[in-house]
Amino acid sequence: MPRHFLIMGPPQAGKGTQAQLLAERFSLLHLATGNLLREISQEHSERGRKVSDFLARGEYVPDDLVTNLVIERMNAHDVLLDGYPRTVAQAETLEDLGIRVDRVLVLNVPEADLLQRAAERLTCPQCGAIFSLTIDPPKVPWICDVCGNGLAQRLDDAPATVQHRLKVYVKRSEPVVQWYLSRGLVEFVDGRGSIADVQSQLVAAVAVFYVAARPQESPDSVALGVGKDRGN
Ligand code: AMP
Repeated sequence: MPRHFLIMGPPQAGKGTQAQLLAERFSLLHLATGNLLREISQEHSERGRKVSDFLARGEYVPDDLVTNLVIERMNAHDVLLDGYPRTVAQAETLEDLGIRVDRVLVLNVPEADLLQRAAERLTCPQCGAIFSLTIDPPKVPWICDVCGNGLAQRLDDAPATVQHRLKVYVKRSEPVVQWYLSRGLVEFVDGRGSIADVQSQLVAAVAVFYVAARPQESPDSVALGVGKDRGN
């Protein structure tokens, strides 16, 4: 049975960076709905325009659209769900589809820190790499270390949009945390430390699922599904 881990946290909690590292560490398929939606928002289509509008306003896109994106990418591999489910309706859909979530990792970061991180974040529109003006600056100002493209601030990192995204998270996603808490599946992780500190807490939470199982898995199944996306 494939395992399904879910990582959650308010905007700027470091979810995308941590998810990418965690997915690579355990060879999990990294399903980051924010990244998928940002790709779609670039499409010159009705769907692209619609998604782009939701993202720019800091609103969640409709449940059915994002559910389809996730379901069509699920396969037999262990998965790290990054940003889905984000509403109780999405969590219920996943359960109705018989997809069991094994562990929910919730990053906790105080609101003041989240707002400061948003003001400092730079992303690469080309490859998705993330930098921070103070904590993790690019070697050349405003140039991506990975692909050399110019860096930009994400449209939804504008202060007013971040405040709004936080409100949306509290209203729509904290009930998802409660929903999984009532099922005994949540592990809270302090998201205030360095990237390495936070990652080691996450690794410890996921490793318990592999300690006994790893030696029995074939090398092929472990090598597939390495996540390459970089979200927030
Ligand atoms: P993220 O990169 O995870 O912060 O997601 C960026 C934005 O994508 C969110 O603020 C939402 O507008 C949208 N989004 C991502 N995942 C979902 C989801 N599961 N349901 C609805 N909207 C989503």
